[in-house]
Amino acid sequence: MKHRIVVLGAGYAGAIAAGRLAKRLHPGDTEITVVNADADFVERVRMHQLATGQHLKHRPLADVYAGTGVEVRQARVTAVDVDRRTVALTAEHGADEIAYDTLVYALGSAAADHGVPGVVEHAYDIAGRHSALRLRDRLGRLAAGGTVLVVGGGLTGLEAVTEIAEARPDLDVAIAARGGLGDWLNEKAQQHLRGVCDRLGITVHEHTDIARVEATGAVTADGRVLPADVTVWTAGFAVHPIAAATSLTVAPTGQIVVDATMRSVSHPEVYAVGDAGLAEGPGDKPLRMSCASGVPMAWQAADAIAARLTGRKIPKAPLRYFNQCISLGRRDGIIQYVTADDRAKPSLITGRLAARYKEIVCKGAAWGVAHPTLYPVRRHHITAIRSESLATMP
Ligand SMILES: Cc1cc2nc3c(=O)[nH]c(=O)nc-3n(C[C@H](O)[C@H](O)[C@H](O)COP(=O)(O)OP(=O)(O)OC[C@H]3O[C@@H](n4cnc5c(N)ncnc54)[C@H](O)[C@@H]3O)c2cc1C
Repeated sequence: MKHRIVVLGAGYAGAIAAGRLAKRLHPGDTEITVVNADADFVERVRMHQLATGQHLKHRPLADVYAGTGVEVRQARVTAVDVDRRTVALTAEHGADEIAYDTLVYALGSAAADHGVPGVVEHAYDIAGRHSALRLRDRLGRLAAGGTVLVVGGGLTGLEAVTEIAEARPDLDVAIAARGGLGDWLNEKAQQHLRGVCDRLGITVHEHTDIARVEATGAVTADGRVLPADVTVWTAGFAVHPIAAATSLTVAPTGQIVVDATMRSVSHPEVYAVGDAGLAEGPGDKPLRMSCASGVPMAWQAADAIAARLTGRKIPKAPLRYFNQCISLGRRDGIIQYVTADDRAKPSLITGRLAARYKEIVCKGAAWGVAHPTLYPVRRHHITAIRSESLATMP
């Protein structure tokens, strides 16, 4: 009987983990199934581009994995039973259940509303394709002179507000940030960011906490009203509740707590990668939810699974940060170099060169997903078929 590896989610982390597993393990004794709600691989890092009307390349998962031996199932995961080692799904033809010996959990995240009243009812977000398309439709119907407020001064907020302001110079665009604008960046990067906001006519509300969102704007914690026809909520990501409903050890965020090999600390046959997993990075800090963390997490998990199954030494993928790549519209950007634990260094790139750099990074990540079994391919036979024996391996 083949060892059944089921990968839940084919975003950056799940798609890369599945491809790398197919590269490492022999199809004669391993079965790899990827379950994803969408038929396509979605480049989530480009959702602000999608929301502003840009065309994104379709990447059907069936094409991505053609000839690799990886089976793709388009279905929605509704539950995981880690005691019975099964996953409940709903697909076009109804409910189903699949069993696994090894599970890679990579269901990603969605927008976090942090319980702020009115976000669910009135705000838009760009955390996924569906919500980005909803915003795109709304922006398309917004007449000249309309007002847009982006809530959240993190990376996603900065990318969203600059993209919208650049694409729609006829709108009044504002951003509300809880801290100072880009205050985790170095001084030069912050100056550049202010310059870009000035050039694009973006109103910046710093040190502003949003307490409530209404149909006509947002109300701050100190009672000010920020009028907006469209409020875009980019105040962080939250994981789906599926893992927290299992007996897996999860953090208060609902992320699955994993060790340095991305293996669940409570269930050795379960791995979690990308936004869904909580792994410790350099400086004993949790890795932040990002593509920059999710890709090396996926490499590490796939290598660890393959090594354990084939009786090899577990290689270590570097879990550290190098830079933060921020697009500021299509013609500007900031590449902020950072320490291993993600703190700003003095060096940076700005302007058109930074925009090009960021574009290369995005293209590179998508290319990596789209070519899952590119050379070098070394498919090893496995030595531990059943999960009982795998679970006892160090
Ligand atoms: C606008 C925007 C810009 C960003 N820019 C950057 C950036 O520049 N750099 C960076 O490092 N990070 C960036 N991020 C963050 C980055 O996109 C995420 O951290 C990354 O996508 C996480 O990868 P993942 O594979 O864990 O999850 P995802 O990419 O979210 O993939 C999860 C997959 O699981 C599927 N799924 C979810 N639930 C179910 C279910 N119940 N059943 C079946 N399938 C399901 C989804 O369809 C999806 O395919 C950005 C995010 C956004 C929204």
